[in-house]
Amino acid sequence: AKSSGRDGFKIYDQTRPEKSVNKLTLLEEMRTGIENGEFFLEYQPQYNLVSGRIVGAEALVRWQHPVLGRLMPGEFIALAEESGLIVPLGRWVLHEACRQNRQWQDDGLTPITMGVNVSVRQFRDSGLISDVTAALKDTGLEAGYLELEVTESLLIQNADQAVRLMDDFRRIGLKLAIDDFGTGYSSLAALKSFPLTRLKIDRSFIRDLDFDESDRSIARAIISLGRELGLNVVAEGVESAKQQAFLASCRCETVQGFHFGRPMNATRFGKLLAMTLTP
Ligand code: C2E
Ligand code: CA
Ligand code: CA
Ligand code: CA
Repeated sequence: AKSSGRDGFKIYDQTRPEKSVNKLTLLEEMRTGIENGEFFLEYQPQYNLVSGRIVGAEALVRWQHPVLGRLMPGEFIALAEESGLIVPLGRWVLHEACRQNRQWQDDGLTPITMGVNVSVRQFRDSGLISDVTAALKDTGLEAGYLELEVTESLLIQNADQAVRLMDDFRRIGLKLAIDDFGTGYSSLAALKSFPLTRLKIDRSFIRDLDFDESDRSIARAIISLGRELGLNVVAEGVESAKQQAFLASCRCETVQGFHFGRPMNATRFGKLLAMTLTP
């Protein structure tokens, strides 16, 4: 979504004509939409490249708006951040993602890690740790099956607080991923300072792998750096067999992208997971 003037807020989506709605109206609708259960999650599978099994999911939020239809995060997350509504929304996302992951385990499916995106505002809000512990306690999910995805800019902007918070999260057993790795200005500093468990290579380095020699070098270097540091590495945005083959040749452990599966609803994901046999 992009801003258009003082209170106009442009909603843009390829599947329907461009609409302009009032920003304050959308905000108010977001507030009630959270209470009315208009938000839902889709799950994108993450695969181990060697075994071919699903090892994780990333939870991605969508908004089923009563008039505008389905809205994607790009159309409302910035507004949620700006207004602070990301705090109650993020709390709901955490709870729902944990509940669903626990449900799949109760259904007898292979346990997987659930990645949840955390934004700067949630991170600054001192309630994040209690939201996380409440979500785990209420749903009965073990901490080791929850992974928080944070960006390097978030970490660097709030460095002192972030180190403390991340240490607390690691102490309770959570996984911590650095998202969109390589796009910020302090990627290497972040690796050094924070107790991360996973590194997600940004899609922009994967997109042009087939023809961009420097992107190939960068991807290869990030994968071996991750390995040296004992971090799991995920390549995001893998869209072709050719990209997959290259990543396999670099011994990249985990992959995520349209080539393997698009974000999908919980029912479809559960069926897909059921086809992944227990090792
Ligand atoms: P992200 O965390 O980098 O999430 C990955 C995005 O890339 C998702 O878009 C996903 O659908 C898309 N994607 C996955 N594989 C491919 C591929 O092979 N090709 C291409 N072109 N795209 C791919 P989505 O769902 O629109 O989410 C966009 C962003 O919105 C996310 O980027 C994340 O930053 C944010 N977001 C999503 N859900 C949440 C949430 O619950 N809380 C917060 N704070 N942010 C969220
Ligand atoms: Ca993410
Ligand atoms: Ca990402
Ligand atoms: Ca490039």
